[in-house]
Amino acid sequence: MKQKRCTKCNKYKNLDEYYCSKDRYRSECKECTIKHNAAYQKRRKKWLERPPADEKTRAYQRDYYSRNKHKFRGYRIKFKMRHPHYYEKWLENRQKKQGAGNVSSEECRED
Ligand SMILES: [Zn+2]
Repeated sequence: MKQKRCTKCNKYKNLDEYYCSKDRYRSECKECTIKHNAAYQKRRKKWLERPPADEKTRAYQRDYYSRNKHKFRGYRIKFKMRHPHYYEKWLENRQKKQGAGNVSSEECRED
């Protein structure tokens, strides 16, 4: 079996030690990916458990959002009207990307 060097731990490992995204192997081995994900989950957990913002900050955030909500939506609608084909393509790509999350390693190219 072919081997590939992990860019994180610099070890040569068999290709089945790598996850793949789309039809390419990742540059980090499974071990490093798992470690990386664990670190990310830890950071995320910390962020989710952060102390709640005080009333002043919350009021500001609410105010900012409600003042800009229509603006952001307006941009999107305008863009959609001006570039309908581009928007369609973007939407299609986005759906494809979301559907491509669970690719098994059998579909990976060996290169
Ligand atoms: Zn590694």
